[in-house]
Amino acid sequence: MKVVVLGTGYVGLVTGVCLASVGHQVTCYDIDEKKIELIRKGIVPIYEPGVETLLNSHTIRFTTTLKEEGFTEAEICIIAVPTPPNPDGSCDLTYILDAAKTIALEMRSYKLIVIKSTVPVGTAKRVQEMVETYSTVPFDIASNPEFLREGAAVSDCLTPDRIIVGVENERAKETMLALYKPFKILQERIFMMDLPSAEITKYAANAMLAARISFMNEMAGLCERVGATIHDVQRGLGADPRIGPHFLSAGVGYGGSCFPKDVQALSAMGRQVGYEMLLMEAIHSVNEMQKRVLFMKLEEYFGEALQGKVVAVWGLAFKPNTDDMREAPALRLIEELLSAGATVKAYDPIAAEKARNLITDERVVWCKDSYSAACGADAIALVTEWQEFKMIDLQRVLEGMRGKAFFDGRNVFRDTTMREKGFHYVGIGVPGLLEKKEREGEGEEEREQKICKTNC
Ligand code: NAD
Repeated sequence: MKVVVLGTGYVGLVTGVCLASVGHQVTCYDIDEKKIELIRKGIVPIYEPGVETLLNSHTIRFTTTLKEEGFTEAEICIIAVPTPPNPDGSCDLTYILDAAKTIALEMRSYKLIVIKSTVPVGTAKRVQEMVETYSTVPFDIASNPEFLREGAAVSDCLTPDRIIVGVENERAKETMLALYKPFKILQERIFMMDLPSAEITKYAANAMLAARISFMNEMAGLCERVGATIHDVQRGLGADPRIGPHFLSAGVGYGGSCFPKDVQALSAMGRQVGYEMLLMEAIHSVNEMQKRVLFMKLEEYFGEALQGKVVAVWGLAFKPNTDDMREAPALRLIEELLSAGATVKAYDPIAAEKARNLITDERVVWCKDSYSAACGADAIALVTEWQEFKMIDLQRVLEGMRGKAFFDGRNVFRDTTMREKGFHYVGIGVPGLLEKKEREGEGEEEREQKICKTNC
């Protein structure tokens, strides 16, 4: 089938290369000329495993104009443009409506317009109105929200666990089934429904996952205060088949381009129809608090002496295997550390370049690896659980540090192991953290002797 994808970001580019890889003829359109220029040269502007291989092994047209063959002939137009939050948390539809207008102005034959971006209920109707304002050519609308996870986007797209499709008529339904026919998915995993239900399903999925994270973070806070251990609670909870083991890890809160904005957009959707969504408000508030939790632990550990301390921040991306820095908890932590007068040594295996564009404070020292970040540091704050941190030589890390404090924002390590190795370990939801006397003996003299010899 001939398909045009509007928006060549995380979702659009992955969708485009995956559709091409199963045999569709794909044109990817974006308003960002620099991005299209890069992709045409075979350079993928995002970090997403597998995309570059697919991009360079299939013929895909990349364009900044729809005034060409690829569009005229296409039967399906997939919209994958951003839907950022407005200041009040509601969803900003400017990009969606712009894309709809672009399609309307250029279309000369029937199109199925598929909305893949995450959009609030009623958006399909607004897209329909926009297209009808600028075109008299027949078209249909489908809602087909995307569930891919950054870092695993290609496999999620090629072997989806389910496909949600909102349609209003048989023609749109059959066209969507034909689009997904080459994919490895059982027929019964394609869920056909009306447009509003498809639109809500996406938000509900993200809100449910965000709820589980905030729930566990709240439990972790309680565990710390009553002498329980969140790992054990997590195991016990996850063993219940009604609950299941996924998305039950406590940490420094969720970030990224989806959960934060989608939870708030659901609240806003409720407000617009006079329905207060108390749970959504609570999920968001718990997460906002949780993003501060590592800083608060550092503050508690060092007290006023945090000023002047050197803190290595391990991991900046909002989660591993992506370079996406949107709403990353590391941003808040670094900002607070700098305000408290600490020096930050930052390291991320993949997202450092994107992070540098966002964190411009000159007091941040950018490091080439985990060891050089830890070198001379009074404390390490692990924010993103990259695989390489799990494999690190902890002895070497400790030897290079000036202090011994390790703040594990993702519970990558176990408290007993870390303490045996000589760290002052602080996890999330693990009790008995830092007895004052545990820290004694780590005098200034001893610290002064450990001078970093590694260049960052
Ligand atoms: P992105 O910011 O990575 O990419 C969006 C692209 O759209 C950009 O390249 C931008 O230049 C382009 N664009 C903007 N306006 C345009 C227009 N009028 N015409 C053509 N291109 C235009 O965004 P993303 O992360 O891919 O997210 C896109 C949508 O998918 C959002 O609604 C998001 O909530 C949803 N989503 C994202 C993910 C994810 O993991 N990133 C997962 C599921 C759903």
